[in-house]
Amino acid sequence: MVRQPHKNPRMSPRTQRTIERIAQTRGIGFLTGQTITVRFMPAEENTGIVFQRLDLEGQPLIPATMPYVASGNRHTLLQHRGATVALTEHVMAALAGMQIDNCLVQIDGPEAPGCDGSALDFVRCLQAAGIVTQVQSVNPYRITEKITLIDAKRNASIIAFPTHGDQLILEYQLDYGRQSPIAEQSAQFVITPYTFVSEVAFCRTFILEQEIEMLKARGYGKNTNTSHLLVFGEDGLIENTLRVENECARHKLLDCIGDFALLGRPIIGHIIARKTGHEHNHQFLHEILSLQERRYSRAA
Ligand SMILES: [Zn+2]
Repeated sequence: MVRQPHKNPRMSPRTQRTIERIAQTRGIGFLTGQTITVRFMPAEENTGIVFQRLDLEGQPLIPATMPYVASGNRHTLLQHRGATVALTEHVMAALAGMQIDNCLVQIDGPEAPGCDGSALDFVRCLQAAGIVTQVQSVNPYRITEKITLIDAKRNASIIAFPTHGDQLILEYQLDYGRQSPIAEQSAQFVITPYTFVSEVAFCRTFILEQEIEMLKARGYGKNTNTSHLLVFGEDGLIENTLRVENECARHKLLDCIGDFALLGRPIIGHIIARKTGHEHNHQFLHEILSLQERRYSRAA
């Protein structure tokens, strides 16, 4: 008897997930200095992630997908009909990292709380909320050809490759040069809820001392200090210790996970990001969306 080859060795996509019950946490907003509460609510299938500003008239909804991305300075700002929500990336990372596809995220201020600069508080909150599987499947975006995004001016790049498996492999390479107090470092993980929680979620935001002075001069970061995030001075980290040696590179992975979730569907492939920031992550998603459009128009 001739054994039939496996026609489709790939697993079928997992089912969508939401949280089981309402959960909330609070913390200081890094930009405004306000104490802000974020409340996670269960949501129906195919809702995606949607923010809601409870403090504004009419309590407007702001979907967390690419058409609603506005240009934020060093963070991901979402905007819909004049309502904005800033610093969304760590909340988005917690949800995407834990494979929560549908959730209403209510906040009572203009930005998500900064907490300790990582996604840890959001992860704990979502763990307390419990996760339930829904009936319909997710519709993952599989990278089927090499995608290259180059920012020659900043020597930054994102390169994505197809993979044989059904997961997202993410690598980040950080290199600010020999003069920088932040050492050259990299991090790579197959992103699953387990690796996200155990290897990435606790890694904190970092900033240079001179940058924080500039932000404070512009009125930002009033109530933040060196215990809230990693501040690097000329001689290294100020009044803090790293949780892992490559915490900065892992935090950049966290930002990528949060930003890439704005595609609205999980990505399958191998992505290597080098010296990139939020704007590169958004450009990369634009690249994916235009590739998709070209494919559809060819097929039509
Ligand atoms: Zn970040």
